[in-house]
Amino acid sequence: MVKRLGQPIAADNYIAGTWKSGGGAKVAVTSPYDNEAMGYYHESLEADVDEAVQAAAAAYTDWASTPLKERCSLLFKVRDSLLHKLEDIANIVALESGKTIGEARAGLLKGIEVLEFATALQNSDLGGKSAVSRGVHCEYRRYPLGVVGSITPFNFPAMVPFWTIPIAIALGNAYVWKPSEKTPCASVPLTEIFSEAGLPPGILTVVQGGKKVAETICTHPKIAAVGFVGSSAAAEAVYQQATKKGKRALALGGAKNHIILLPDADLALSGKGIADSFTGCAGQRCMAASVLLAVGDVDHLIESIKSHAQSVQLGQSMGAIITQEQRLCLEDAVSAAEKRGAKILLDGRKPDVPKEFPNGNWFGPTILDQVNPSDLAARDEMFGPILTIVRCATITEALDIQNSNPYGNACSVFTSNGGLAEKVVDSAHCGMAGINIGVPVPREPFSFGGIGQSRFGHGDITGYGGVEFWSQLKKITTKWNQQSDANWMS
Ligand code: NAD
Repeated sequence: MVKRLGQPIAADNYIAGTWKSGGGAKVAVTSPYDNEAMGYYHESLEADVDEAVQAAAAAYTDWASTPLKERCSLLFKVRDSLLHKLEDIANIVALESGKTIGEARAGLLKGIEVLEFATALQNSDLGGKSAVSRGVHCEYRRYPLGVVGSITPFNFPAMVPFWTIPIAIALGNAYVWKPSEKTPCASVPLTEIFSEAGLPPGILTVVQGGKKVAETICTHPKIAAVGFVGSSAAAEAVYQQATKKGKRALALGGAKNHIILLPDADLALSGKGIADSFTGCAGQRCMAASVLLAVGDVDHLIESIKSHAQSVQLGQSMGAIITQEQRLCLEDAVSAAEKRGAKILLDGRKPDVPKEFPNGNWFGPTILDQVNPSDLAARDEMFGPILTIVRCATITEALDIQNSNPYGNACSVFTSNGGLAEKVVDSAHCGMAGINIGVPVPREPFSFGGIGQSRFGHGDITGYGGVEFWSQLKKITTKWNQQSDANWMS
């Protein structure tokens, strides 16, 4: 279980290797576990962001010309230190985001996996060279972009930043990070680890604050590219603002993930896999199962999902909702769906509250059955531990419903039939598909990213997708005077 902190965390800005608070209002950071203050930050003003970007730009040139091997070797130290401090940082992540300790730890380990991918870039051929004519060679060389910006969401205060920080800085960029204003505290120990590993001041910069700070990043003339992860409305706004200013942008948005459940699915695999998917991180993750497309007679499988979900213990195996406001939204969404005819199989509105944290934002696993595919509960992202069941007569009907949803993050199928599984993988409108797996997050080096309204821009955010996004290619054609055979390139 999470532990309360001895003293509040000052989530300051980190600019040119120095911690300093932004010039705006002081804001308390409260924990979803008890709604008590666990830290604070000061909103950054435009001048703070500008100071941060100028410092990053000043540091960039030396860093960009540091050999890739040297940049990567520093990341090994970051990895060791992160593993050493894993439990303490996991506690901060859990306390500020509402995750369980296990989930916070898992997020950090996934972040370390991306970091390991970045350390391996030193051993990858990131360019390529070949003789294209007599005595003429063409070659790719990969260069950093410059000062780059990144805006991250509340629900993975450490993992999502680690999707991009290691790859972007390994490739030679200077990185300006705006964490979520709801969860700014983890940025403090994470930034310290890079600094202790010897990262030159200015290469990792943190500016705290909300939407206005994000907008300043999107429009600052010295920022070359913006990475974003958050809701679809904000992702679209960030993408529009940044690209309008001529910046490269990749903005990952929200999700409404479907699971297609077929009658021949394995009972144990589907029951636990689907329950874990919609209750994990209290449903506050962009890969959570949200709509169960139940094909044919699958009542025995639904019973198993329900019984796994019922065994969840708040505070132990499931965490809290980020704010009271969001918890009330979930309550309202369930009540409204019930009024429109949804049958409630499992009701999380009045859960068993953990006695250690009686004032937390608790909402239990909830299952809504017999929901119409056009109902809000079946179409909109709710971001809570709610599974909406839509009954379908055929797999074709299920795929039609899945395909008509504007999001496109993940879709999984549970079945014992390989042919039908392949049909779902081929036909689902999504960037990440799963077979008998509830949370089909690709492991590195397979890259992460959705399509449709779940992504604005092109490409994926981790793996080689990240390498493409955070660097640019120069194409070099070479000829030396000893090799002067005449041909059409002379
Ligand atoms: P959010 O969109 O409210 O905030 C995300 C970040 O954007 C924060 O740093 C916030 O300050 C900033 N922001 C908010 N509005 C903005 C605007 N109009 N312009 C510029 N910046 C703005 O999201 P959240 O509530 O922190 O996170 C939950 C959302 O993130 C969910 O929709 C979830 O699905 C999504 N998410 C997606 C992925 C993915 O990989 N696709 C991963 C994690 C979370």
